[in-house]
Amino acid sequence: ASQNRELHVFLFPFMAHGHMIPVSDMAKLFAAQGVKTTIITNTLNAPTFSKAIRSRKTNSCGCGIEIEIKTIKFPSQEAGLPEGCENLDSLPTPELAGNFFKAMGLLQAPLEQLLLEDQPTCLVADMFFPWATDAAAKFGIPRLVFHGTSFFALAASDCVWRYEPFKNTSSDSEPFVIPNLPGLIRMTRAQVPDFIKDNIENDLSRLLKQSKEAEVRSYGIVVNSFYELEPVYADYYRKVLGKKAWHIGPLSLCNRDNEEKAYRGKEASIDEHECLKWLDSKKPNSVVYVCFGSVVKFNNSQLKDIALGLEASGLEFIWVVRKGKDDDDVGKEDWLPEGFEERMEGKGLIIRGWAPQVLILDHGAVGGFVTHCGWNSTLEGIAAGLPMVTWPVAAEQFYNEKLVTQVLKIGVAVGAQKWVRVVGDSVKKEAIEKAVTQMMVGEEAEEMRNRARVLAEQARRANEKGGSSHSDLNALIEELSSQS
Ligand code: UDP
Repeated sequence: ASQNRELHVFLFPFMAHGHMIPVSDMAKLFAAQGVKTTIITNTLNAPTFSKAIRSRKTNSCGCGIEIEIKTIKFPSQEAGLPEGCENLDSLPTPELAGNFFKAMGLLQAPLEQLLLEDQPTCLVADMFFPWATDAAAKFGIPRLVFHGTSFFALAASDCVWRYEPFKNTSSDSEPFVIPNLPGLIRMTRAQVPDFIKDNIENDLSRLLKQSKEAEVRSYGIVVNSFYELEPVYADYYRKVLGKKAWHIGPLSLCNRDNEEKAYRGKEASIDEHECLKWLDSKKPNSVVYVCFGSVVKFNNSQLKDIALGLEASGLEFIWVVRKGKDDDDVGKEDWLPEGFEERMEGKGLIIRGWAPQVLILDHGAVGGFVTHCGWNSTLEGIAAGLPMVTWPVAAEQFYNEKLVTQVLKIGVAVGAQKWVRVVGDSVKKEAIEKAVTQMMVGEEAEEMRNRARVLAEQARRANEKGGSSHSDLNALIEELSSQS
């Protein structure tokens, strides 16, 4: 490991848990290879990183691990944000997302100041910082992009954007095949974001265009995936889109052989031992885990449908419910059907707030995962060998759904149709009951579970010495070392 000492990698994640969690893991991976690693973030998010990385004090060679955290000031006032909104999940209203992205655009000068002071040899910056390519260029160092998503989503979104297949459909619900993308992948016009299909210029579409353009000029990308999961699309990205890419995932697995529990994003809202005890009392593969990531919030009517759908399925479940700060009904519980918790006593566990997700997914009693298809959750589900019910909401989640259902064939789509920013009552209880049952019971469910188990085993091997992700990480470190 000592030969990597001269390397110094700056990691600069976007301030949202779905981006920060994999970057904490990435920092541990780099550091375990003897690479000096610095995470750059803002003051309010710094404790999250220090808790996440404290869980490893030595690497496999017994050397001390060097992960430093440096902070830059978050420009709340300049971006028109209330004090304290320094993470995407802490916005009081979704409308403030524009201001949040504006703040991201103001971080270039403070980051450059740190680049000047520390002179790292490489900058890995989130795709939401397109200006990072120019910042790195000023200091003559390579900029790598971290998207936090799959090769499949990158390839599919490029094809949809480039070839605009939705233009040839007569209705929102008529499926089209994504042109030029291997695998004859189908999706509907409704599942394409409005700003793409209606060619709308707004802050988000401008940012995404800048991000694409910056990626073309960047040194390459780092992907939280493993080759065996999506070989066709990893090759497509490298050969057709012509960019250098290193797959180093599933990043969540780097915590597996850890003596301490990995801290992922927030303190869990449930005592972890209680949660595990509850699961210990259940049969193998019998419990459905339902969670929609760190950002998605459903309205009361949709929450009721989820409750009724789960109840009607007759299955046991753990359901994670997020309620926003702006909802003054947090304590009132009027989003639950009358008497629901009494009826579900012992059968269903509701976690209000933050769940120890990886711990739950990895428990043998859990048999399926209802997910919004955020890439971290999807990959954590795959690494746990679980079939899924896919319920995408926004971002690149609809593409991840197609990977799970059409390519890997380990999931059942609940039927979410529309790309939405604020989630309304779009999926009815009957659809939820049907999808969950299909995932958990019967021959098809068994086949999906078997396929998912094979993938989990491949994921584990990819991270072992000589495995595809382990080798790619070493190849990346070697290449960066030769550069510096
Ligand atoms: N997560 C968690 N507990 C929760 C909700 C989410 O630990 O109650 C973690 C989850 O394991 C994943 C991340 O938060 O690592 C969410 O990332 P993802 O890409 O799935 O979705 P996003 O939050 O970005 O929409």
